[in-house]
Amino acid sequence: MSASVTLENISKRYGEVEVLRGIDLHIPAGQTVALIGPSGSGKSTLLRLLMTLERPDAGRVLIDGEPMWTQPRGGREAPATEAHLRKVRGKIGMVFQHFNLFPHMTALDNVAEAPRHVLGLGRAEAEARAAEYLGKVGLGDKLGQYPGNLSGGQKQRVGIARALAMRPEIMLFDEVTSALDPELVGGVLEILRELSASRTMTMIIVTHQMKFAERSSDRTLFFEAGRILEDGPSPEVFNAPSHARTRQFLDAVI
Ligand code: ADP
Ligand code: MG
Repeated sequence: MSASVTLENISKRYGEVEVLRGIDLHIPAGQTVALIGPSGSGKSTLLRLLMTLERPDAGRVLIDGEPMWTQPRGGREAPATEAHLRKVRGKIGMVFQHFNLFPHMTALDNVAEAPRHVLGLGRAEAEARAAEYLGKVGLGDKLGQYPGNLSGGQKQRVGIARALAMRPEIMLFDEVTSALDPELVGGVLEILRELSASRTMTMIIVTHQMKFAERSSDRTLFFEAGRILEDGPSPEVFNAPSHARTRQFLDAVI
């Protein structure tokens, strides 16, 4: 199952710095969107807002049409309760650049942890689910390994399995290959490609891998200084961008 994401006039500032400047965006359920743009342009902040880790200063975030920070009560909108936020958060998974696995736990236990303790599954069920998702990311033979015995690419795949095991409707990926040795990048991107092709989730992928963005996402957004400068089908954005600034960025990074 997948959910749509809508941002309405979202603004966010840190002190004097306006990090997001009136973002309007609708991502239909099941779409894969690549988010590209220079460092500091607000890409991670956008994902953190969707993860409910940050709250916008203005505007609304809606998941499947349901506002994140308010909820209907007695015919009016009231501030979201903890229960409402938990429900929204439960639909969204995120994978970061640094995997943050528990070093003293096996791959299986790392992935089974949240299904057990957040979803309340029993040990056997959580472990079966963890094994299923580790299998999906090609680590079916590493269930008992500790992170210290895994390569960076394998650790990142455990991180992806950990997020998938919560069965989110929306998955956010923030530069998940940036910390990897170059030869380990391809295997991780291949998993993202398969997830995208399966159309089981809505995906937003912040990446500096331009070939990957061009070939494996439906749509690309180019971010610049807290605004979406370019938004279109990926082949168009990469081959015929409408802004000179997008062309300049693409020429510099490819
Ligand atoms: P990107 O992911 O595109 O590199 P970010 O969203 O991380 O950009 O950051 C956008 C801007 O917001 C940067 O100028 C960054 O320094 C600033 N910023 C991000 N997080 C914070 C924070 N918690 N406190 C203050 N400034 C922040
Ligand atoms: Mg970032």
